[in-house]
Amino acid sequence: MYKKSQELYQTAKELMPGGVNSPVRAFKSVGMDPLFIDRAEGARTYDVDGNEYIDYVLSFGPLILGHSDRKVVDALTATAQKGTSFGAPTRLENELAELVVERVPSVEMLRMVSSGTEATLAALRLARGYTGRNKILKFEGCYHGHSDSLLIKAGSGVATLGLPDSPGVPEGTAANTVTVPYNDEESLKMAFDKFGDDIAAVIMEPVAGNMGVVPPKDGYLKFVRELTEENGTLLIFDEVMTGFRVGYNSAQGHYGIKPDLTCLGKVIGGGLPVGAYGGRREIMEHIAPVGNIYQAGTLSGNPLAMTAGLETLRQLTPESYEHFNKLGDMLEVGLKEVFSRHDLPITVNRAGSMIGFFLTEGPVVDFDSANTSDLDLFRELYQELLKEGVYLPPSQFEGMFLSTKHTPEDIERTIDAFSTALDRLAT
Ligand code: PLP
Repeated sequence: MYKKSQELYQTAKELMPGGVNSPVRAFKSVGMDPLFIDRAEGARTYDVDGNEYIDYVLSFGPLILGHSDRKVVDALTATAQKGTSFGAPTRLENELAELVVERVPSVEMLRMVSSGTEATLAALRLARGYTGRNKILKFEGCYHGHSDSLLIKAGSGVATLGLPDSPGVPEGTAANTVTVPYNDEESLKMAFDKFGDDIAAVIMEPVAGNMGVVPPKDGYLKFVRELTEENGTLLIFDEVMTGFRVGYNSAQGHYGIKPDLTCLGKVIGGGLPVGAYGGRREIMEHIAPVGNIYQAGTLSGNPLAMTAGLETLRQLTPESYEHFNKLGDMLEVGLKEVFSRHDLPITVNRAGSMIGFFLTEGPVVDFDSANTSDLDLFRELYQELLKEGVYLPPSQFEGMFLSTKHTPEDIERTIDAFSTALDRLAT
């Protein structure tokens, strides 16, 4: 069933570490070789062996309109015909920036970069330069890209592979990163009591999406906002994943909390490489060439990437989020019913178009509780679901994503697939 994928993987392994250009893609934690993808359209992905899947990976989040959206593809073609990169400003950058400023409540001004990693890296440099402080605080199980100071107790692939903090991160750098458990007010308060006047920034995913999906407890974001304000620490929301996924106005609009800086990526690039960081004008104007904190990029604001982002954001409406909530409700109810029928525990966490399920009684509120999920069962279930045509992110510590192209029928088929998979595992 996966013959061509397996052949390609043998070749890939000779050419790239683990045969991949990003670790989770290697399927290690689900105990099989990765699928090689041939093409995708809407909510469907097709591998090189011709198998068809309902896709809940969506390139790990960016494709909120599904794959190969007609308007996005047409706009990309038109832009490419005018040139692919100029190293000079274009009207497209203004247009995308205007849309982001309009929709993301705390962003008055932004800088485009080419990945989420770059966005968080640059936001931290800005926070340190602006406050004159050294330390940053992050939460266990949150992932903010692979820059040195953020690879401490990280989620996503780092959690998937069970890696300790990465070798190659200098001790001095690691010493400036303070970590505390997510959703735990007391630990955060203790960290501030100890290091408060040297913490430049707290960086957080307002809904954690890299230890599976873990929403903030009621009042938690407000608590973090107040504590950072009291201590002269900047609050950075890493909305690379949650931006335009959790709500029309991103997670900060949904929860009504304004951070000082916001990092974006994924959806704002519509499937092309884009990241951005933005916030209050008074802070952002410390960035060169207005200010003296340096950050640059040859392909930043690339016309193709701006085009895909613009066409994607233009098609999202408040109704899109009603669609996500409706499908999310259906999936949650269906999964709970199927698992209860099989006498197995499941916890479902949701925020807008992000859905996470854990094979545990729950509740799952932080990295430790996420780790109580039955990883062996996840692996077996994963393989069976693929056979049933359902393509999930190949890790317990990644969330599922919905697109505007997913339909109630897709959700019904997915619930049936879970049921069949569990039946098969029970025999
Ligand atoms: N921040 C968050 C919350 C993410 O989920 C990710 C990637 O998954 C990143 C940052 C890094 O983005 P990129 O992979 O584009 O560098």
